[in-house]
Amino acid sequence: MNCDNPNFDAFDHGHLWHPYTSMKDPLPTYKVRSAEGVRITLADGTELIEGMSSWWCALHGYRNPVLDEAVRRQLGQMSHVMFGGLTHEPAIELGKLLLQIVPPSMTRIFYADSGSVAVEVAMKMAVQYQVARGNAQRTNFVTITSGYHGDTWNAMSVCDPVTGMHSLFGPSLPVRHFVPTPQSRFDGAWDPDDIIPLRQTIERHADQLAALILEPVVQGAGGMRFYHPQYLREAAGLCRRHGLLLIFDEIATGFGRTGKLFAWEHAGVQPDIMCIGKALTGGYMTLSAVLTGDEVALTISSAPPHAFMHGPTFMANPLACAVALASTKLLLSRPWQQKVKAIETQLREQLAPARRLPGIRDVRVLGAIGAIEAERPVDMARIQRRLVEEGIWLRPFGRLVYTMPQYIISPEDLTRLTSAMVKIAGEL
Ligand code: PMP
Repeated sequence: MNCDNPNFDAFDHGHLWHPYTSMKDPLPTYKVRSAEGVRITLADGTELIEGMSSWWCALHGYRNPVLDEAVRRQLGQMSHVMFGGLTHEPAIELGKLLLQIVPPSMTRIFYADSGSVAVEVAMKMAVQYQVARGNAQRTNFVTITSGYHGDTWNAMSVCDPVTGMHSLFGPSLPVRHFVPTPQSRFDGAWDPDDIIPLRQTIERHADQLAALILEPVVQGAGGMRFYHPQYLREAAGLCRRHGLLLIFDEIATGFGRTGKLFAWEHAGVQPDIMCIGKALTGGYMTLSAVLTGDEVALTISSAPPHAFMHGPTFMANPLACAVALASTKLLLSRPWQQKVKAIETQLREQLAPARRLPGIRDVRVLGAIGAIEAERPVDMARIQRRLVEEGIWLRPFGRLVYTMPQYIISPEDLTRLTSAMVKIAGEL
């Protein structure tokens, strides 16, 4: 890409930091003029079918009239007021709705800014809970490899130790306990040996462990792995037996993505703390929430300082809460299960041919997630350009070319996405 290309911006290239790329020799960026439905229009007028839901958060299409209207209406009231000492209708109404759709054991909500901050909050909550119970030494965490929980300090410390930047930050990062991720596939047989490493680690280190944190069923940015729900049942039993809290990071899996409204439903296991984010606002702006039950909330509140010690500036931002309320209502008012099922069926059928291609290791589909895994890492810049040439917006990473389409995508547009994916898989 060069300066004559209207999709290239020299200021952006020279001054704006994009995620996970060099400032010296950045990966190309494509300038977007506008977006509507599942279409992104680039500066030169090129239209792309968007298959990423903008990193898994958009559900109902860009410029969705219902969500646009919710933001406009809220702007007419107030865009923001602090949550310390004040409250407002959008936070209250969103809270009421969330409590109807999360695990029944969840009764208390902490609104936070982003997914990573939700994970920080959840981890702090677990430690404060243990301290309040007189277990001051229970400050560490156990997790499974191939996980991803965000890029802030504590979130990063529980990301996969190899792909999760641990070597870069070395001893400045808290050292967590990692056990191998379960090998039993979501759609395969359960291998009881899968739980042994977690059992051994918990038995050995329970007196230092505040909680187990993991993404239930689907590990997203750690490799799009779908593992057996029985792991969660066994893990929950171990946590209860040894006094660990169980934290589910449902930031990527929430709001129907895996075919259930939240992924805990695949296992019927209710966590002690749960993080949601991303699709909470239908992809309009950043907001997350950390949910817990009475036991955790009241235990924290019963010991000095008798409060949970976190309070972000934009906590429960009214604009974000208003659009989250509108998005969640919209989702629930639609036959989203059928839609996600239909996307799943179509992804299964149309991505299957990639399995026979040389250099392809696996093809996986669950709910509205379809992933093609290559034998070797994907050349991101080249493949991204090829996808744009095909009229598609996807963002490959690692060995994966994958899609998480918005639920409003038409079967025809989805076919264009999957055809391009299979074609590109032949060029990996
Ligand atoms: N947890 C999970 C499971 C995620 O997938 C992500 C984002 N990919 C995060 C946490 C971090 O969220 P955010 O980027 O909003 O900080």
